[in-house]
Amino acid sequence: MRLKLVAGNWKMHGGIEQNRNLLNRIVVGTVGIQNTACAVCVPYPYLSQVQSLLKNTHVSWGAQNISQHDKGAYTGEVSAAMLTDFCCYYVIVGHSERRTLYGEDSRTVSIKFKAAQDAGLVPILCVGETLDQRETSITEQVVGEQLDTVIGLVGVDVMARSVLAYEPIWAIGTGKTATPQQAQDVHVFIRNKVASYNIKVATDLRILYGGSVKASNAVELFTMPDIDGGLIGGASLVADEFISICLAAQN
Ligand code: PEP
Repeated sequence: MRLKLVAGNWKMHGGIEQNRNLLNRIVVGTVGIQNTACAVCVPYPYLSQVQSLLKNTHVSWGAQNISQHDKGAYTGEVSAAMLTDFCCYYVIVGHSERRTLYGEDSRTVSIKFKAAQDAGLVPILCVGETLDQRETSITEQVVGEQLDTVIGLVGVDVMARSVLAYEPIWAIGTGKTATPQQAQDVHVFIRNKVASYNIKVATDLRILYGGSVKASNAVELFTMPDIDGGLIGGASLVADEFISICLAAQN
């Protein structure tokens, strides 16, 4: 059985006081959770705070992006090795906001994926289509190409040490959620695609759904057989919402 994962993506939100309150509530609210891992992916400046608040708890942490480079004259960038200094476990790569707003193409995303793994981090690789691409029935083509580019660079075996997140761009931060069946269909496509390279890796691969997951829709999404948890944006900033989403995953 695949262990479910619910990971919060705080994006560019947070503050020292607010984080302390949120994290303390999440830890208490999810204590004793079964068959589900919980994590938060936070802005870089808060990694030290998050590390000190979450160490020795069941909640793990990570970042939202890394540089594709190891070190050097890359002003403003943060390397994978730097994240390991704060005991990060996860790092999100290829989030649609990075692809769209910062021009990250699938090749750059693949290099970041590799950089994360080389440093011992677990990448959460995001894939997904725009509304236009869905309406022109090319979702599978788009998601398939995003996956093929990564597997082409890193090979399929290392996908075993990663997490995938299907995040339809039209559902991110819009309040529109893919129906459980729409999400399940793409998750099956992703699993079959990875299975075409390696069946065992595909069977064990955790595929999260992301896109306006809330306490009110989490249960129906997480009961789909190929949805192994969620990547949660807005709702991860509200303690009660995030706790309910985490608890929904264990059922
Ligand atoms: C995200 O940005 O990864 C995300 C899923 O956002 P939201 O839950 O707010 O749609």
